[in-house]
Amino acid sequence: MSCWYTGDMPIQVLSHEVAARIAAGEVVERPASAVKELVENAIDAGATSVQVEVVAGGLEGVRVVDNGHGIPAAEVTSLFQRHATSKLTSADDLNSILTMGFRGEALYSLAAVAEVSLLTRTADQEVATFVEASNARALRQEPRGGPVGTTVSVTQLFDQVPARKKFLRTAKSELSRIHTVLTHYALAHPSIRFNLDSDGRNAFSSPGNGDIREAVAAVYNREIAQALLAVEGTSDDGISVTGLVSAPDLHRANRSYIGLYVNQRPIQSRTLTYAVTEAYRGMMAGDRFPLAILMVDVLPEDVDVNVHPTKSEVRFRVEGDVFSVLQRAVRETIVAGSPVPEIGVAASNRGASSTLAANRFPERSHGVWGGFSSGSTVDATAQLQMGMPEPAAQNAFPMMDALPTLRVLGQSQETYIVAEGPNGLYLIDQHAAHECVVYERLKTAAATHNPEVQGLLEPVTVELTSFQAETVHEQGEVLAQYGWDLEPFGDRTYLLRGVPAVLATKGPAKSFIELLDGVGEAVEFSTWEDRIAATVACHGSVRAGLVLSHEEMVEMVRLLEKAQQPHTCPHGRPTMLHLSANNLERHFKRT
Ligand code: ADP
Ligand code: MG
Repeated sequence: MSCWYTGDMPIQVLSHEVAARIAAGEVVERPASAVKELVENAIDAGATSVQVEVVAGGLEGVRVVDNGHGIPAAEVTSLFQRHATSKLTSADDLNSILTMGFRGEALYSLAAVAEVSLLTRTADQEVATFVEASNARALRQEPRGGPVGTTVSVTQLFDQVPARKKFLRTAKSELSRIHTVLTHYALAHPSIRFNLDSDGRNAFSSPGNGDIREAVAAVYNREIAQALLAVEGTSDDGISVTGLVSAPDLHRANRSYIGLYVNQRPIQSRTLTYAVTEAYRGMMAGDRFPLAILMVDVLPEDVDVNVHPTKSEVRFRVEGDVFSVLQRAVRETIVAGSPVPEIGVAASNRGASSTLAANRFPERSHGVWGGFSSGSTVDATAQLQMGMPEPAAQNAFPMMDALPTLRVLGQSQETYIVAEGPNGLYLIDQHAAHECVVYERLKTAAATHNPEVQGLLEPVTVELTSFQAETVHEQGEVLAQYGWDLEPFGDRTYLLRGVPAVLATKGPAKSFIELLDGVGEAVEFSTWEDRIAATVACHGSVRAGLVLSHEEMVEMVRLLEKAQQPHTCPHGRPTMLHLSANNLERHFKRT
């Protein structure tokens, strides 16, 4: 077998190219790591603008343009040598690193696995220098016109390393990783203007005006940016924590919205992430996670960033101190800034209110919100109730998430349900609210291996594009958990035998294709599970612009009352606006 070392091969010193390629494997794993290294170099060069352009998710090309201090022509020659760096001069410097880079490996590694070209000019040079490199060597250098700053272009990434190329995903998924890299740096460096263009279209940009909330608005959205609470904490030994965190009523299904930055470097740390989630203990359900952007600043000599070639892990001199400063700062913020308990008060008799709701509003025999077609063999009512947790389980969720019993008054703009609660008015976004309900039901059904499938009388064949086929190939199991009953039927053809019950009224083939395309775009979710769940929920939910009958609205509100997280849809958008009685009184000057 060819993979066994047989002793036939004499020991040799590896050639320059091969050695470089092996070393490169650790630093440049995929297009996103190339982007990360180039962006870090731009930041280290003091750039205030970093423009990233990618083609086909970086698989066909990556270009980073910065307006930093540039590289003097005389130094360009040595750029592509291993350990060529301007950021360290002695071993002592390793103990106090303030720059992103210091290992002098990125350009060297990139040139080992791709064609690299670089155009750079310093402020005191008349012309720029252009240099091209490949096979880990600079090929040619010449003067050229160009602005102050540096532009690095990388093409034919991994063309010479087929084994690596095989591991890369689709352009879409590489793009989503690049997107993540860029958003992290935009949050860590709010005074730098970041821009990401993908195949000529703008995919992300941050204003770079120094305001962290503006950066958050660019990455997430304005509501989230405004809702986040400011964190501040310090210790005597030089540790400081600043940033923004969500109040306990704003949360996500996974930890990927917790961003940690140590001395402005995005890092991964299970321990510090735990410190953050611990701060929410008792205020947030165990399977929900906050949003957080937290800058931990420590003296450079108290942190070792040279733990891993990609520098995404760090080691602290005293991790326990960092842990407790972080946890305390977050805890204090959320305790002080938690939302007014208006909703919580009403929720304290939540058990009673659900019964009330049931009594006040007659049960419908067919749940319109399940989207079941009439004549369906599935018992709609049973399906609707299935997957709804028992009241006891609901108590595990924080009280401020619960919704009081609401009385429907009417519909506005064919989009909002107007309802009245014990403490004021509610405007409910019918699409977002329905999405929230369907999403929860789908998740519960998937978790209990009990998807609501609507079997098709005649299987339908669907032809997929290669992108779509790849999603099905990789995520077949998850698709099944969410109600897609599929059977491979040739290369890119599948037999569709059943669809998620919430989509039963739609054309099966069309809705499947729409789902696959939608899933590819739902890059805000970090897991495929969540992407698929959210996309099915979105497609299976009532649209805005649809006239609803009174009964339909009553049922929608009833389902929302039972939801575990009624306040946000799976995409994090609010489902409702509450005008409290207090606010109304104040507005009309009745107090
Ligand atoms: P490192 O960042 O670890 O020093 P790199 O291989 O990433 O190693 O870069 C090598 C050197 O090239 C850097 O130390 C820096 O002097 C120079 N350099 C690279 N990119 C830029 C840039 N965008 N602007 C200015 N100088 C750069
Ligand atoms: Mg670098």
